[in-house]
Amino acid sequence: MSLIIEVAIPVPLNQTFDYLCDDLVSVGSRVKVPFIRKEVVGVVLCIKDKSEFTKLKTVSQVLDKEPILDGSILDFLFWSSKYYHHPIGEVISAAIPKNLRLGKEAEIKKIAPPTTERVRPDFVPTNEQNSAIEKILSSKNSYQGFLLHGVTGSGKTEVYLNCTQAIIDNGGQVLVLVPEIGLTPQMISRFESRLNTIVVAIHSQLNETQKLNAYLMAKTKKAGVVLGTRSAIFAPIPNLGLIIIDEEHDSSFKQNSGFRYSARDLSYIRARQSNIPVIFGTATPSLETLKNVLDKKVNRITLSERAGGAKLPKVSLIDLRSDYGRSLSPLLVEKMQITLKNKKQVMLFINRRGYAPVYFCTDCGWKAQCNHCDSALVYHRQINRLKCHHCGVEQIPISTCPECEKSNLEVFGYGTERLEETLNSYFPNVPIIRIDRDTTRQKKSFSKHLEKINSGEPCIIVGTQMLAKGHDFSNLSLVGILEIDAGLLSIDYRATEHLAQLLIQVSGRSGRNKEEGEVVIQTRYPEHPIFHYVLSNRYTQFASALLKQRNKSQLPPFSHQALICANSKNKQNAEKFLMEAANLLNKITVDSVDVWGPVPDIIEKKSDYYYFNLYLQSNNRSSLHLMLSTFTENVDSLKTKNKVRWYLDVDPIE
Ligand code: ADP
Ligand code: ZN
Ligand code: ZN
Repeated sequence: MSLIIEVAIPVPLNQTFDYLCDDLVSVGSRVKVPFIRKEVVGVVLCIKDKSEFTKLKTVSQVLDKEPILDGSILDFLFWSSKYYHHPIGEVISAAIPKNLRLGKEAEIKKIAPPTTERVRPDFVPTNEQNSAIEKILSSKNSYQGFLLHGVTGSGKTEVYLNCTQAIIDNGGQVLVLVPEIGLTPQMISRFESRLNTIVVAIHSQLNETQKLNAYLMAKTKKAGVVLGTRSAIFAPIPNLGLIIIDEEHDSSFKQNSGFRYSARDLSYIRARQSNIPVIFGTATPSLETLKNVLDKKVNRITLSERAGGAKLPKVSLIDLRSDYGRSLSPLLVEKMQITLKNKKQVMLFINRRGYAPVYFCTDCGWKAQCNHCDSALVYHRQINRLKCHHCGVEQIPISTCPECEKSNLEVFGYGTERLEETLNSYFPNVPIIRIDRDTTRQKKSFSKHLEKINSGEPCIIVGTQMLAKGHDFSNLSLVGILEIDAGLLSIDYRATEHLAQLLIQVSGRSGRNKEEGEVVIQTRYPEHPIFHYVLSNRYTQFASALLKQRNKSQLPPFSHQALICANSKNKQNAEKFLMEAANLLNKITVDSVDVWGPVPDIIEKKSDYYYFNLYLQSNNRSSLHLMLSTFTENVDSLKTKNKVRWYLDVDPIE
């Protein structure tokens, strides 16, 4: 006799599909099913007695004897689908490795041998570290959030390692999330060399076989530690005993395309469902987490001093108003010379890749713009191309101005490439290591650069935000921070929070050994209030001041937001769809949800598509979500729906 099964299929439709199945099959297993003249791979969600549909099609093949998703991970995926109002089929598809999506066998190809010898640290935990470890482990078998608020270099990783070992000794598994791929190799080796277990990594630079292997090692409990970037939050970990979110304030925990979710926010849910502790580690907590501390939903643990006797660096400003146009002030150059003479390393942080951000006509002021986006083209000297950082379009720089036909075209401003060139002329005999997306495109090139820095030889490191966090360069003693003024003037209400975090994180790379490090920030706005706090390392006070402002203006985390974005090559359609959407929303009777827009996105045109947004905000999360579910149920009734691309972003951060 055939069974009736309900199947999740990766299509952008808010529904599941019923099929007949002639073979034995269990919930959480994959099946191959006919779907609109194709065969697709779906996952069985339940087995039922009857279906409301007639004429059911039959499953072509059952792919798994053992389910690939167990009950607890399915519950978590259902929760995620409901909260983000995203179809369960697409949520499941985002949560499993590509090889499983394609229907390949769920089999471990090779088990990595347990790594080399374990090293014991040559120090004992400090009192602060010990008390943190004790507090966290005291809620080993119950749900509790901890903010591990430790200044940069305070030894948070040491706390993670000790807690992790204790959980593993108890037969548990630990999930560690880190923000960037760049941080994973370093973290992996720190965990591997210390812990008595197999550590597997899950991140985008692995090939598909490696990803599937890691996934299955976690699922079969062979790996004690699963370490990865945001998507690892969905890894199947049957004995999950602890979740660690390192650098919790980092915005890369938010997925900003397809199924949009926040791995940090989801970690609360996963920990609660598994009844285990979750650690949010950072030197610069997000306002969301600080509010949870105020609301007593999260317990704050402080590491107030750098480990091993290192001191926090001395931070000072260089007022650039008198050296207009120069990228490096003479004072910074002098400090660099002294540092290098003392056989130490220097790092210059500049958050812009390429040679120069502006290519313009000195006669009439014309500026090279992308034809497909509302953005300026960035000059890249090595390849002699103007490049759009939004759509990737490249063109050869023209030599006569299209407006006035004169040929006085020049670049303006600095990116990493130009800074490197300038440094070469100032410091011809010093190695310069540039780290940005252009110099790290090739596999392993990032780790090669890191190796060179870790050798400790005196050098100048030039880098973008790829270098801002997590790294522990022991011979680095001077950090220069350039070109941050745009961030001071931004209209985004989160800009100052993110800038303060960035400044403190970048500063934190300096002086991680015994000798005190130094940080110099160049700016044309030395009176900006942010410096008042950053110079004296008072992030907490700064964050409290920001929280007060957010409370007063009822912005997140004191209210909840969602965004409906529509885009189309036809500007009117994008706007019209959102007007129809706003009408629909206004007809839904729920209290206290404000609907605002449509308004054009900050960058209105990207790759020839016009972007418009509709903002929803409420003090009441359930009202907002009630409205969103009513909206998604009725969105098919909107006339322009098929003329636009649209998406819903719950708790947007952009
Ligand atoms: P964080 O993650 O808080 O920035 P790390 O965990 O990277 O800091 O630690 C910074 C440095 O201090 C590392 O080199 C680490 O080995 C060292 N360290 C950690 N704990 C101690 C300790 N108790 N005594 C001495 N050194 C320590
Ligand atoms: Zn001109
Ligand atoms: Zn473009």
